[in-house]
Amino acid sequence: MAEEKTSGCSGNCSSCSQSCGSRKEPQSLLEPTGEYNNIKHVIGVVSGKGGVGKSMVTSSLAVLMSKMGYKVGILDADITGPSIPKSFGINSKVYQNELGILPAETKNGIKIMSINLLLEDKEAPVLWRGPVIAGAVKQFWHDVVWGDLDYLFVDCPPGTGDVPLTVFQSIPLDGAVIVTSPQDLVSMIVKKAYNMANMMNIPVLGIVENMSSVICPECKTEFKIFGSGSDSIAEELGLDLLGKMPIDVDLAKAVDNGSFELYDNVFLKPAAEAIDKKINK
Ligand code: ADP
Repeated sequence: MAEEKTSGCSGNCSSCSQSCGSRKEPQSLLEPTGEYNNIKHVIGVVSGKGGVGKSMVTSSLAVLMSKMGYKVGILDADITGPSIPKSFGINSKVYQNELGILPAETKNGIKIMSINLLLEDKEAPVLWRGPVIAGAVKQFWHDVVWGDLDYLFVDCPPGTGDVPLTVFQSIPLDGAVIVTSPQDLVSMIVKKAYNMANMMNIPVLGIVENMSSVICPECKTEFKIFGSGSDSIAEELGLDLLGKMPIDVDLAKAVDNGSFELYDNVFLKPAAEAIDKKINK
């Protein structure tokens, strides 16, 4: 039987206020997580572009939350540039049993899932098309046995393309943290990430500014090589500037030698505390 349509129907119910017989309600694209998972809060860490320290901030927030006594996981959705396992010194592969894929665990019990934990050759590029990458991210959400977690941090792919869109649409994020470096702030890149989160109705918890300054390892003098920083853009967008992280030689060493959990990130501790407060208020 033909469905009743009002005259002038464009087929786009989202922009129409008429209530006709063929009206379709918008469908949620959110995917359920696996049946063995009980994940209280999911936080996406995003950036308008790569290389600003998004993975480093994801790992730092995870370590800091774990130190606060929470059960924490990291879903590395940066499929084409996965760097999380290496910074925690994890080189093994993950295994699957009848329940699903078992994530790797750091020395302090942070659960990690990343494409690098599945690949034979960790240096082989992931030459997959967008939908395949997006499918892998959905599998990490659904098929991994995360168990009970207080916080799952999702290291989102950079930019505003196909894969970040899938992450935003299919994983129920409680909030997003935008990572930037000060020189990007003169451009519209932060605003793009902010607008994307807004369009997806994901609350932006605030901005973390990375590479705010350089502290000389010898004389401890602080140099602000990229200028004044992100205060003004945070103000313009009405967002909290959650934290500022200098370029730190010790952090770079900890990432490179896989001892990230031993690095005491005093710079981003206030950011982790502020996020926890916002989420639990
Ligand atoms: P993204 O995820 O945005 O691509 P990463 O977090 O992988 O960026 O950071 C890129 C590189 O820069 C990594 O090797 C990381 O260890 C290093 N790095 C990031 N932030 C800092 C910092 N504040 N101090 C020193 N090294 C940093």
